[in-house]
Amino acid sequence: MTFRSKAFEIAQGRISPTIAPPTEKVADLYGSNTFSDDVMKTLLSAEAYGKISNAIRSGSTIDREVADEVSAAMKSWAISKGATHYTHWFQPLTGSTAEKHDSFFDLTIDGRAVEKFKGSALVQQEPDASSFPSGGLRATFEARGYTGWDPSSPAFLMDNGGGGKTLCIPSVFISYTGEALDYKAPLLRSLVMLDKAATGVCQFFNRDVGKVTPTLGIEQEYFLVDKALYYARPDLLMAGRTVFGHSPARGQQLDDHYFGSISPRVNAFMVDFEFEALKLGIPVRTRHNEVAPGQFECAPTFEEVNLAIDHNALLMDLMQKVGDRHNFQVLFHEKPFAGINGSGKHNNWSLSTDTGINLLAPTSKPKENLRFLTFLMNVVKAVHDHADLLRASICSAGNEHRLGANEAPPSIVSVFLGNELTKMLEELVNKGEITLEKGENFYYKLGLTRIPNLQRDNTDRNRTSPFCFTGNKFEYRAVGSSQNSASPMIVLNTIVANQLLEFKREMDERLASGEEKKVATVEILKRYFTESKDILFEGNGYSDEWIEEAKQRGLTNIRNTYDALYAYKTEKTISVFEKIGVLTSRELHARYEIELENYVKKLQIESRVIGDLALNHIVSTVVKYQFKLAQTARSLTDLEMLAEAEPIKEIIRDISSHIVVIKKLVGEMTEGRKTANNIDDLFERAKYYGSEVKGFFEEIRYHVDKLELLIDDEDWPLAKYREMLFLE
Ligand code: ADP
Ligand code: MG
Repeated sequence: MTFRSKAFEIAQGRISPTIAPPTEKVADLYGSNTFSDDVMKTLLSAEAYGKISNAIRSGSTIDREVADEVSAAMKSWAISKGATHYTHWFQPLTGSTAEKHDSFFDLTIDGRAVEKFKGSALVQQEPDASSFPSGGLRATFEARGYTGWDPSSPAFLMDNGGGGKTLCIPSVFISYTGEALDYKAPLLRSLVMLDKAATGVCQFFNRDVGKVTPTLGIEQEYFLVDKALYYARPDLLMAGRTVFGHSPARGQQLDDHYFGSISPRVNAFMVDFEFEALKLGIPVRTRHNEVAPGQFECAPTFEEVNLAIDHNALLMDLMQKVGDRHNFQVLFHEKPFAGINGSGKHNNWSLSTDTGINLLAPTSKPKENLRFLTFLMNVVKAVHDHADLLRASICSAGNEHRLGANEAPPSIVSVFLGNELTKMLEELVNKGEITLEKGENFYYKLGLTRIPNLQRDNTDRNRTSPFCFTGNKFEYRAVGSSQNSASPMIVLNTIVANQLLEFKREMDERLASGEEKKVATVEILKRYFTESKDILFEGNGYSDEWIEEAKQRGLTNIRNTYDALYAYKTEKTISVFEKIGVLTSRELHARYEIELENYVKKLQIESRVIGDLALNHIVSTVVKYQFKLAQTARSLTDLEMLAEAEPIKEIIRDISSHIVVIKKLVGEMTEGRKTANNIDDLFERAKYYGSEVKGFFEEIRYHVDKLELLIDDEDWPLAKYREMLFLE
């Protein structure tokens, strides 16, 4: 029995567990494992509570005494709920989350055991930073990095299994010199600046707006594979994706998986992680099957951006942990299986005011619609002016397989607004106003109904657009499923903040020269529309015609990661980021290098896995099978059954021809890797990996996949696509 058939037998034999629903109501369960506002209100003095609420709202600093009081409350709350340890929880540029647990337990000077957690430990910690990527921001001799408490994201309790819980404190991670080593620090900076810029622009329309909060709803796509089969695929284990595997006879042609009924085993997993998520205050709401077999989606309700991103990072971690309990491996890779859909992480983004307005939602009042159009056009203009930077923020070795492949946005950045809205903007440009006929309202003009639920009807959707307006928010669909959303959100917040500041500057100038406010607004928007029209595209983004048309329009179509990353270090980018104060030139260069390094490492691992699997698993197995065939052919020949021996000899020749090519290609790829590893310049090394080394991947795969069809099913060593994807 092969390892594979053993694994398949185990996978098939799994019975679906029943998850007992919790005894509490979901509303009571929600946030029960977080140090929430309610908990703080109960445990803190009125003064401390007031100060911390203020710090959360306005970002003011927290003094030492308040920190001491909060830490004492946090400690007793956490211990009462079974926590033994605490950690600053942060998001280094490795792409995953990091924790270093410390025990509450300590000894006093005279040897007595106490439980200790002081304000200073809450506010700041010093993990050994030397093993996190820093892109040269931290010389190795100066390995110090600090984590600092982010009070705007509630601390939570994490159950790591095996007993004991840990109090996790969301934190930023910065170097000794104050430079950002993580995603959160620049994200927070970008959010503060976007608030300022958007609030400033709001003053032209609603003077009572005092704060604008960017909001984000993250739809997370993923695949599930049975653990046993996962372990029977060294490529999934090491590289997160299958480097070989012939497409099953039935793939996703029938589209019957999308929104199909969820199998009991998968359902049990979903129910389980959703309860855990709710306890952590993650507002999970939607679950459904995705287009590809074995693919699913989970979408929480939108929240403030920083919170939504922490929650997504936490959710991914949680899904993996709960997956273990259900013998599932959750695959977050952008393209775990060739030939079928990849996974994305749609980022739904909008701006909401402290007066309860969604700035990207059209209304039925013309005056408010000018405000809506202002925010809409400023986003479009920002995306137009910085399309390459937005593209850079989502590039990775994994997403490279997805963008432009099956059912995934192309690598050309374009914006979809919908026909009606585009038409209306054109009207605005041509006539200087939006004509509303009697009895018409804005929704009607948009081709939408007044019933909010129907606003986001699929007719006004374009699923092929990487960046589309969906009725009351923008959806950035090109983001990769394994990515930290902070990366695209830092860019989006920054370029929109920059654009809104620019708009305000122009407005102020015009108003100072006596122009009427409405006229000034319309004049500026008209110009923005004309200047950024090229990025608007309503058609099929998956078509070849679009690639051609985009080229005519002068839009860039950057296919690979090493070229896409370049946008991080252009003069234009640096000046915007430094002006807004989100990342310095040094920090940007560091990020550029880290991303390139990640890319090289990923491809290096994939290449090794391909070489290893091809020779040690595939060729070796195939040679044994070939020997069996040869014996059969010889026996037939001995029996003078020459005609019968011929087809067998034919198969032997076929197999041999593939083996010869595989052997040769793996050898050349290995040489390519050696050459690449000797290239000093990081960009050139990444480029060599991404073109020369990666160039062998598909070719080798082609021959291995051919062999999969020639070899006896019993003998094939790797779990097959149909086994992994169609397991119920
Ligand atoms: P889809 O058809 O794209 O699956 P959904 O209705 O599931 O659309 O919504 C997708 C996501 O958009 C959800 O996470 C939802 O909370 C989020 N969303 C809705 N309104 C906003 C908003 N104003 N700001 C940010 N995200 C929003
Ligand atoms: Mg969506």
